[in-house]
Amino acid sequence: MKIKQHKKRIFSGVQPTGNIHLGNYLGAVKNFVKLQKLGNETLFCIVDLHAITVWQDPKVLQSSIRELAATFIACGLDSKKSVLFSQSQVSSHVELAWIFNCVARMGWLNRMTQFKDKAGKNKENASVGLFAYPALMAADILAYHATHVPVGEDQKQHLELTRDIATKFNNDFQVPNFFPNPEPIIEQIAPRIMNLRDGSKKMSKSDTSDMSRINIQDNKDLIALKVRKAKTDQEPIPEDIVDLEKRPEANNLINIYASLIDCTPKDVLTEYCGQPFSNFKPKLAEVLVSELGPISKKINQLLEHPDEIDKVLNEGAIKAKKISEPIIKDTYKILGLSK
Ligand code: ATP
Ligand code: MG
Repeated sequence: MKIKQHKKRIFSGVQPTGNIHLGNYLGAVKNFVKLQKLGNETLFCIVDLHAITVWQDPKVLQSSIRELAATFIACGLDSKKSVLFSQSQVSSHVELAWIFNCVARMGWLNRMTQFKDKAGKNKENASVGLFAYPALMAADILAYHATHVPVGEDQKQHLELTRDIATKFNNDFQVPNFFPNPEPIIEQIAPRIMNLRDGSKKMSKSDTSDMSRINIQDNKDLIALKVRKAKTDQEPIPEDIVDLEKRPEANNLINIYASLIDCTPKDVLTEYCGQPFSNFKPKLAEVLVSELGPISKKINQLLEHPDEIDKVLNEGAIKAKKISEPIIKDTYKILGLSK
């Protein structure tokens, strides 16, 4: 079989588990918008089947899906330029996920740190879906023969697994490069936004404390409060980046600011060195409010018309199927199955 060449195609997903936060925005969605603007072929997916790896209230899930679609659009994703859709509307994802469950090895999945973090001490009681999650993520990407995946740094390990699955499938069935080896695209300044209360943990939707994150829809007062209460230390802002990097919470706030105003952390240090965090925090709150305020307003406007949001997702699903269904058909054929 001749070696397949893949054209550049970008795919990424976000879970509709409520509370899209600053980490999702700076680490992922803002990057999606940049990549769309550069004229790439882009697909952005609401990964609702990943969400159900832990129990979700069906009514809440349904509204979270719409809310996330509205968030995508309010942040600047355009359904005329990008394919915006939800995972459960395109069956290719689950079809390929089963095949990848049979390609991936137990040992590979046993090494995934996200499962360990999310299952916690009660591993025996975690769903099989939570364990197999990375195989579904590989299917999300490879069902489109996507070559590039913009994600936060926390997803790097899953992307490596995706590459391992692609390589093993291609080798096992002697179909060189049938599945591409997708590359992560990780934001430089904000690869991992940390929890505001604990600089050793990433900011996360599933953290029980709402004070640990800035949600994209938080109002001005709440943003100011969360920033004011964000953990820092007694030291003033340092001059040197090496000194900053030894202080995780301080480092996080400086990185957030730099990422929001599109400059380097060093530029922020030059401007604020020697000052206490009590001077810096109101400035940070100000830029957060001016970035997130208009997005939040737009989300609320969009949510007044749920039918239009559903229409965008339905049309997106049709476009997504057009790309993925022939790939699934070829995959079945390679396996000796018919579809
Ligand atoms: P959960 O805790 O339920 O897994 P999450 O906050 O990790 O939620 P996801 O929907 O899993 O959100 O991730 C969506 C995208 O946001 C992914 O590309 C992920 O890498 C990125 N992301 C998540 N958290 C952060 C963070 N703290 N900093 C930078 N990027 C992040
Ligand atoms: Mg996550």
